[in-house]
Amino acid sequence: MKTFCGRANPTTGAMEWLEEDENYDYHQEIARSRYADMLHDKDRNVKYYQGIRAAVSRVKERGEKAIVLDIGTGTGLLSMMAASAGADFCYAVEVFKPMANAAVKIVEKNGFRDKIKVINKHSTEVTVGPDGDMQCRANILVTELFDTELIGEGALPTYEHAHKYLVQEGCEAVPHRATVYVQLVESKRMWSWNKLFPVHVEAEDGEKIIVSPSEMEDCPGVPSVCDIQLNQMPSSDFTILSDVVTMFSVDFSKPVRSASTSYRVQLEPVKSGKAQIVLSWWDIDMDPSGMINCTMAPYWVKSTSAFQWRDHWMQCVYFLPNEEPVLQGEKVYLTACRDEYSVWYKLQKTRGKEENKAAVRVESPVCRCQAHLLWNRPRFGQLNDQNRTCQYIKSLTKVLQTDSVCLCISDGSLLPVLAHCLGAKQYATFFFLKFFKANNLEDKIKIIEARPELLTSSHLEDKKISVLVGEPFFTTSLLPWHNLYFWYARTAVTSHLTSSVTVLPQSASLHMMIVEFQDLWRIRSPCGTCEGFDVQTMDDMIKNSLNFRESKEAEPHPLWEYPCKSLSDPQEVLTFDFRKTVPEYSLSTEGSVNLLRKGKSHGAVLWMEYHLAADISVNTGLMQISDEKGNCEWNPHCKQAVYFFSSVIESETLSDLPSAVTYAINFNTKTGEIAMDFKL
Ligand code: SAH
Repeated sequence: MKTFCGRANPTTGAMEWLEEDENYDYHQEIARSRYADMLHDKDRNVKYYQGIRAAVSRVKERGEKAIVLDIGTGTGLLSMMAASAGADFCYAVEVFKPMANAAVKIVEKNGFRDKIKVINKHSTEVTVGPDGDMQCRANILVTELFDTELIGEGALPTYEHAHKYLVQEGCEAVPHRATVYVQLVESKRMWSWNKLFPVHVEAEDGEKIIVSPSEMEDCPGVPSVCDIQLNQMPSSDFTILSDVVTMFSVDFSKPVRSASTSYRVQLEPVKSGKAQIVLSWWDIDMDPSGMINCTMAPYWVKSTSAFQWRDHWMQCVYFLPNEEPVLQGEKVYLTACRDEYSVWYKLQKTRGKEENKAAVRVESPVCRCQAHLLWNRPRFGQLNDQNRTCQYIKSLTKVLQTDSVCLCISDGSLLPVLAHCLGAKQYATFFFLKFFKANNLEDKIKIIEARPELLTSSHLEDKKISVLVGEPFFTTSLLPWHNLYFWYARTAVTSHLTSSVTVLPQSASLHMMIVEFQDLWRIRSPCGTCEGFDVQTMDDMIKNSLNFRESKEAEPHPLWEYPCKSLSDPQEVLTFDFRKTVPEYSLSTEGSVNLLRKGKSHGAVLWMEYHLAADISVNTGLMQISDEKGNCEWNPHCKQAVYFFSSVIESETLSDLPSAVTYAINFNTKTGEIAMDFKL
């Protein structure tokens, strides 16, 4: 079956209808899934196996048959562990059909057909009884339904249901318990992902300050978790204000309640400062004694030297609704509220009257200032990057005249405000009003509620545009070159531009470098066997999905979180001249890059640079080729594109190191797509 799916092309902006295979979503999900990463997580796998063996033994010691329920079996891994540990029977439940099919194959290949029944259902649909999916209730409950926030994938409602309907009272659970930890910190860097700092603009008539709306001050933001590789955050970027404390824990062997609730702890700051951020992570105890523990604790907390890199579980950054000064030794109260799927925090100086927990209002935060709806965390960081802002101010100062009529095309951009401060008569295509109100600009900057393609001269009051600006930044962009939409928009508004129009940025360039990743390569590397079980079926399935689209694609990753070393020099591969309209023909290039250092060429990293005006550029990729650890330093507010070389990632040896990589890159101006091919 073929389906047609409508979507706006992120680069060209054109509405297009794509003929999608019915399996398209499946392939996307599998190709980009974290299954491989989980199977590579040795620490997790070993501890699950230990916990499962211990649980099966405890049941056997009681003289009972060991009946296992494995919810979210994925590849069937945990069920196979249980069967190997001597379980009498396993019910392996998996809701995602392609995975359930894979589990059937993997279970069979490993010889567990008689011991494991794969049930392709959501656990809440599973029936128990002589004619049901399960003959009887299980006495061992095994799951791995956790995300970085622990509960974001619906673990609580799943457990709640399982205890009511699918498992026996007093069952064993692996993991047995999860504990959520928090630590209060001050961090200008992380706080800049949540609030807009005042922007200082040096204009001819003195310094002007752009301020954020007062609603932003105590806006609780949006409840979506900010999960990052906290281990990549240098200790110089935050100040610890409290010890690590246990916020709450969940015993999975007892009935679980998923209803909204809150937890409160008393903290005694170890340092005076501004409480802004709650850092959080969890651990799971695989057995009741707590001897088999798998922890996500970051580097400054963890005592063990054996460090497990993983990407499927990271650490959480929570932003307090507003910053709160705290004094060393002066107690404060931290409250964690949660609903079924997410957690948020607030800090109070006094205990308050609400002694009784139930009285604490548990309402999911709602953004009141609009900014958290318009800007995501990296975008906040980008707008707060004073260096970057300076480049725009410098280049705007160069191009703006007092009689300039300026059109800005970028999503949620501060450029119209900067340009106004610098004296231009303004038009903006898109912005949010509260911001203009806060800066008394409602009647100075006109918001045009039309896509650039539909711009008419009446929108512009019959004026011609003399300065066209863009960051460019668009929320629909996933890959770096998607922001070339600015070029298409510029082409669409051509008839409204004066003949001597200044376009800022005047051009862009695509850059590339070959790298060796410290860890990121793992997410695309095959597993083969996992704890002695053959999971190659999974590898084949991922490979098949990756090759589903004829041309392999690059994928976006925020590389500041994923250390890598450069193996080649950075190279400019394509340029895009915004002073001219988008050409009819494709832009293509080919060549080769020399590999200057020894290492595994895991892939090519690609990024964009925008040339605002002569000698003023903004770089969204490589900031420094080698830091003190020898790793590349990347723009922390942008995702870069990574094109993995599967042949290198799949090979075990380091022999036959190539001395160069040849490439062919083609930008199809009609489709806005960049196709690339590399040979090692
Ligand atoms: N157990 C495997 C895979 C864990 S990933 C392992 O440890 O390697 C979690 C899996 O659970 C996903 O495949 C997801 O589709 C599935 N899942 C999540 N909630 C579920 C539910 N309530 N019922 C059935 N499957 C579920």
